[in-house]
Amino acid sequence: MDLAALKIDIAEVPTEENPQLVLQKSRDFYWYSPVLKRQLDSVKADIVARPRNEDELLLVVGACFKNEVPLTVRGSGTGNYGQAMPLAGGLVLDLCNMNRVIEVKNGTVVAEPGAILADIDKVTRPTGQELRMFPSTYHTASIGGFIAGGSGGVGSVRWGGLRDVGNIVRVKMAAMDGSIPTVLDLSGRDINRVSHAYGTTGVITEVEMPLAPAVEWVDLITAFPTLEAAVHHGEALAAADGLLLKNVAVMDAAIAPYLRRHKPYLPDGEAFVVTIAASFAAGDVAALGKRAGGRVVLRTDTLEAEARSRLPPAFELSWNHTTLRALRMDPDITYLQVLYPQPGIAGKVLKMSALLGEEAPTHLEFVRFDGAVGCFGLPLVRFTTEERLDEIIALHEDNGCPIFNPHRYTLEEGGMKQTDPLQLGFKRRSDPKGLLNPGKMIAWDDPDFDYGRPYLFPSLSA
Ligand code: FAD
Repeated sequence: MDLAALKIDIAEVPTEENPQLVLQKSRDFYWYSPVLKRQLDSVKADIVARPRNEDELLLVVGACFKNEVPLTVRGSGTGNYGQAMPLAGGLVLDLCNMNRVIEVKNGTVVAEPGAILADIDKVTRPTGQELRMFPSTYHTASIGGFIAGGSGGVGSVRWGGLRDVGNIVRVKMAAMDGSIPTVLDLSGRDINRVSHAYGTTGVITEVEMPLAPAVEWVDLITAFPTLEAAVHHGEALAAADGLLLKNVAVMDAAIAPYLRRHKPYLPDGEAFVVTIAASFAAGDVAALGKRAGGRVVLRTDTLEAEARSRLPPAFELSWNHTTLRALRMDPDITYLQVLYPQPGIAGKVLKMSALLGEEAPTHLEFVRFDGAVGCFGLPLVRFTTEERLDEIIALHEDNGCPIFNPHRYTLEEGGMKQTDPLQLGFKRRSDPKGLLNPGKMIAWDDPDFDYGRPYLFPSLSA
């Protein structure tokens, strides 16, 4: 790596070399995992570049190729598997300055990769449209980072995940294949070449995302005397095709103390279901909850404005925000990502809850998965040792509940992305020197690596 030559080549692009700031931009939310914290704490880039437009971005990518400098892309750095951390040092390509919404069309939005999800919606809402789905880091995460490092979230109960065809319309990417990089426009299945690939196969320079009609959303919480009743209600809501819902999360009673601002509404010892529903569907959600033996303890459309303004939005209680809130109060908390497959979701959830009890309070997120109701678990885990964490993972797998391991920084071991021969072949063409986010794709060094478990994102040859 010739850093001195690189600096000359990219002299016109804003850069940062202050060691503290470079360290900050070399980190993401890896510390969510005690395992990744131990492994990645000392990771640091040599320089950060902040291109302001596509021409500057291509200049940086081309200069890294020429001078053999590893390049790791950074959106907002909210990924929590160390995805955006530069294991081999080199350059962090920070896309915070490429944050424009380029065009809102009838049904889609075109944006630069660094555009923040909430800012995209601010531009699309006046046209009566909004993003179909977003991670619970809506207010901070970038659209490029969501596509390259995320999987779905709020909205997935209706629309499925980023893995599902149609949820990303088009992606423009730059390859790391010459001093003047090749630029590709990908659509359809080809998008899988860069989606959830942690920037190992290309740098996303522009995206086009599908939009849904914008509606007014209401947060509801329904409390239940048992976890079993709450799980059944969550599953029933997710299966109710006529209800326009944005999110359905189920939580064990033990999680309530961590949701500090909502705590006054949450009865002690009761499990609860957090739902985000279209305002016109809120009455039906409440009625279904009552019929299932629950009590509606919070409805934001019936709250005084002052009380409402003190509460964070319900999506910031959901997905990985549940873990974040628990971690803030108890640093020994971590979590897992579980798939509870059909059929018999509730039976599997309750079995794992009975096996692990207080050690892993249940947190579920219902989604649409391959055309049916699906259920992901993000149980909180009271961490003791890495060996015990592995035992808890094995216990899930032995009981038919696959784990997408958030304590691994490689694509393959996270169980999200399969690097099949087609994906590896694409990487060899788009990044022949292996400079893009080195160390994150096991198959680059070991093409025969066999993970032996299911993957969330489909392989290219599927
Ligand atoms: P970054 O963390 O900056 O990057 C993510 C990955 O994408 C990295 O590998 C990076 O190198 C690569 N990358 C970034 N931009 C580009 C680009 N332009 N081209 C190529 N590669 C690129 N994720 C979910 O899917 N759903 C959730 O609900 C969710 N909730 C979360 C809640 C919390 C509290 C936290 C801490 C994380 C959560 N995440 C969730 C993970 C993360 O916030 C999201 O995936 C988010 O969309 C990542 O966006 P980012 O801009 O921060 O990406």
